[in-house]
Amino acid sequence: MGARRANEKDADRHIGRRALLIGGAAAAAGTAVLARDELGRLWWRTPGVEKPRKEGEVDYAGARWVAASDANWRRADRPEDYGVDLVVIHVTQGSFDSAVKVFQDPGHGAAAHYIVGQDGTVAQMIRELDVAFHAGNRDYNERSVGIEHEGFVDRPQDFTAEMYESSARLTARICARYDIPVDREHIIGHVEVPGTDHTDPGEHWDWDRYMKLVRKARTAVA
Ligand SMILES: [Zn+2]
Repeated sequence: MGARRANEKDADRHIGRRALLIGGAAAAAGTAVLARDELGRLWWRTPGVEKPRKEGEVDYAGARWVAASDANWRRADRPEDYGVDLVVIHVTQGSFDSAVKVFQDPGHGAAAHYIVGQDGTVAQMIRELDVAFHAGNRDYNERSVGIEHEGFVDRPQDFTAEMYESSARLTARICARYDIPVDREHIIGHVEVPGTDHTDPGEHWDWDRYMKLVRKARTAVA
């Protein structure tokens, strides 16, 4: 979210990139992997055949589950159908509870996978398997995990040590799970998504501090 100019729906205009290969190892293995992946995708498309899901299950052990409205995301089977190679950082422009509320509102048309509070609390509202409508760009939505942070872009005091540390641990886990490099090419702000009119996380978000914490947490995860 953050500094939105209009009630923006997920931009569904152009056809999203279909990630055929997952990770560098798969790319090196070549066409055999491609064929297997093709089969995997067809298997997934067979009605009634899906990875088992459990109600209330989270992808990050430190998160509590609060379901978003299913109008604010699209069911998928990532990383099988879309590779995940981005984390997108947002700021809520409101309280933790107000962010939860709007993500539960089917009329909102947007929601992120996670919300991190100023006290470090993490809520997961959409499974990483699924495509959350948070970046305002279909391609970026399909390949990313979106993390909201409680606060306002123009209030530096909102970005607490607890929030940075908790979010960094979460991002490190996501990077470890999908083998995403810990750098600013792959961990980006909403403002850096092509075509966006959003400014979050804004000038007070301390990228140097955050990336240092993510790298530290990523080393601990490995
Ligand atoms: Zn945003």
